[in-house]
Amino acid sequence: MEIKKVVVIGSGTMGSGIAAHLCNANIPVTLLDLKTEISEQARDKIYKSRPPLLLDKSKINNIKVGNILDNFNEVSEADWVVEAVVERIDIKHEIYQKIFKERKKGAIVSSNTSSIPIKVLSEHLSEEEKKDFCITHFFNPVRYMGLLEIVKNENNDLKKINILKQFCETELGKGAIVCNDTPGFLGNRVGVYAMQVAMTEAFKMKLSIEEADAVFGRPMGIPKTGIFGLYDLIGIDLMADVLKSFIKELPETDKFHQVAKEIPLIKNLIETGYTGRKGKGGFYRVNKTDGKKVMEALNLENGEYFPSKKINVKSEKVDLKSLINRDDKYGKYAWSVISKIIKYASSLVPGITKEFNDIDEAMRLGFNWSKGPFEMLEEIGVVNFFNKIDEYQNNNFLENLAKSKDEKFYGERQKYTNIETLGKVKKTAISIDGNNSAQIYRFKDYNVVEFITKANALDYNSMDALKKATDKPLIIINESMQFSAGVNLSYTMDFANKNDFKSVEKFIRHFQETCKHLKYSDYPVISAPSGLTLGGGFEVMVHSNFVASHTNIVVGLVETIVGLIPAGGGCKEMLARWLDTDEAKKDPHYASLKVFDIIGYGRTATSPVEAEPLKYLKPEDKKIMNRNSLLEVSKKIIEENKDFKAPSEKKFNLPGNAAKEEMMKILEKLYNDKVILDHGMIVGAELANVLSGGDTNINKILSEADLFKLELDAFMKLIETKETQNRIKHTLLTGKPLIN
Ligand code: NAD
Repeated sequence: MEIKKVVVIGSGTMGSGIAAHLCNANIPVTLLDLKTEISEQARDKIYKSRPPLLLDKSKINNIKVGNILDNFNEVSEADWVVEAVVERIDIKHEIYQKIFKERKKGAIVSSNTSSIPIKVLSEHLSEEEKKDFCITHFFNPVRYMGLLEIVKNENNDLKKINILKQFCETELGKGAIVCNDTPGFLGNRVGVYAMQVAMTEAFKMKLSIEEADAVFGRPMGIPKTGIFGLYDLIGIDLMADVLKSFIKELPETDKFHQVAKEIPLIKNLIETGYTGRKGKGGFYRVNKTDGKKVMEALNLENGEYFPSKKINVKSEKVDLKSLINRDDKYGKYAWSVISKIIKYASSLVPGITKEFNDIDEAMRLGFNWSKGPFEMLEEIGVVNFFNKIDEYQNNNFLENLAKSKDEKFYGERQKYTNIETLGKVKKTAISIDGNNSAQIYRFKDYNVVEFITKANALDYNSMDALKKATDKPLIIINESMQFSAGVNLSYTMDFANKNDFKSVEKFIRHFQETCKHLKYSDYPVISAPSGLTLGGGFEVMVHSNFVASHTNIVVGLVETIVGLIPAGGGCKEMLARWLDTDEAKKDPHYASLKVFDIIGYGRTATSPVEAEPLKYLKPEDKKIMNRNSLLEVSKKIIEENKDFKAPSEKKFNLPGNAAKEEMMKILEKLYNDKVILDHGMIVGAELANVLSGGDTNINKILSEADLFKLELDAFMKLIETKETQNRIKHTLLTGKPLIN
């Protein structure tokens, strides 16, 4: 069977997310709810969602809406029916009765339940019906969260489960892990336990919420929302419901109970409407005093709000060993939390899964952790762990490991998929070298460079690693959330603060040389981006000979926002792309003006479909739904380009002053309309100068080196101004742009 048409029942958060993602995969989908108005509203919300659930607004045309009374016959045409109605067993049972009466013979029926066991869901189904019934547990937001847990029952037709898994991997790009029918499955069982441990230990050890979030966050390879921030994001009331369902389902002996007890402060928050970001606020809230917005944090001891304090735990990198051995409260908290998570997760093997690394993958894909509990244990080291741990009675996994002391216990990774992922392949590298900013994995036929800094921000070392790795075909790819958020602004500001502009210039030159080197080296260079691919990150990608892009990218040149212009060849490459258009051949100003608009506004695209019209991506660049497949696709590109020849250098005919004047007029209008202020004019003028080609005319040929020089000169002028430095400082501090 093939899945060609899907019906989703229930158009709330999850139903609409699932429907939207099916649209992204060009699968016709019908979304049904109690009333057509509800599903119409859901479709509207999908269309307007931010961050967008759709790869492109046009994808909305794949969706039909209706209601379960008049339009239930849609079910008879579907190959897969997904139930995503409220978490009420009576309602779900009623729906299944209707579905199985109406469905096409053999069509798959699944539930998106997060807490009801499959044996309960399917208790009224016939043996025949059970064959085609399973749980497909997607995570919110569906487009962005990698995890899909497929829970089967003992009657399932395994061939069909496999077809569904394949479909969800290939078409929907999910990391589909088949798991047992146990409460919370893999992700939530360990993830919610981890959240509860992080929270209860913070209470016990008297850490402030900012302190707990600063530790149970980046230093542990966990998203920076931390624990209390995450609670606010999910909804404090929703978390209370989740805990209730775990308490109901899990036996009293389960350690989960120890961390799931009701906390009076939280009960009070819910009762007074402080349910998190969707309510009046939560552990954090934004308060307006004297017309100014102030971020406040709750004091856990007295329940009052105070202006939130930024905590610096001085841990730039994920380094668990150092973190847990620190002799301060942060180190003690980290160890207490990590060791409890490792103990709990390992106590669940083989009960909830016999593959312990499925738990790690669930945490990675469902909670965006960079390492799951078993990888954390591997990083800490088996001997170190057992030297530090108190007790682990009745935990077979740890008892065995304590005996074997096998530091290499981990073995293979990502067993849930047959795809040859970067995670699996890295372990087979012939050699690994590199530096603090990037690692080079060397294989027989190719090299991999993986950036490893925070948000993969780029510096001198990142460029060194790239340059060093071009002695073979090179794939630039990584496993973290972002391909690269751009040049490391703190690194650049450190020089600027010391008035050491020579070092800034040296870095930009090195950046430019490296980009040039990527483009013209003897072997093909492939970038495989996912997540943020901004500024300098985009410049690395755009100088690669080939691109294999994940569909979840955010791509663009955003330098003007911090008062700079792209100087790693971003202006140059965008000009080259727009000069190649038919319009540019007719109108000599066309390319310069178009790129001026794109870079001037710092336009970003949130998918490859949006990126193509801006020419951030080319039609021939590969666009891939499943992030796991980026390496395989990149390797295939290498194979197909055995006779690779570096491209010839691009020549530029640019209009010079005539186009610059046009751009200045645009800037003046923006200035008069108060869209930009004084420094905006200055940044815009520098950009206009570069994009018009500087002191040139349309008959003069400019080389790539000429354009690099224009970029560098403009960049240096801007970085030396106080106003640009203020913009950078402001963005580093607040994450927001400063308009000056
Ligand atoms: P929701 O409350 O946002 O939406 C539920 C929708 O179901 C509503 O639009 C409601 O009108 C509709 N509905 C109710 N009865 C119906 C019926 N008889 N026929 C058709 N539609 C009906 O809920 P949600 O958060 O989208 O959750 C849906 C399911 O997904 C639940 O089983 C939940 O446990 C599970 N889930 C939720 C999340 C999450 O983060 N919200 C994550 C994973 C799984």
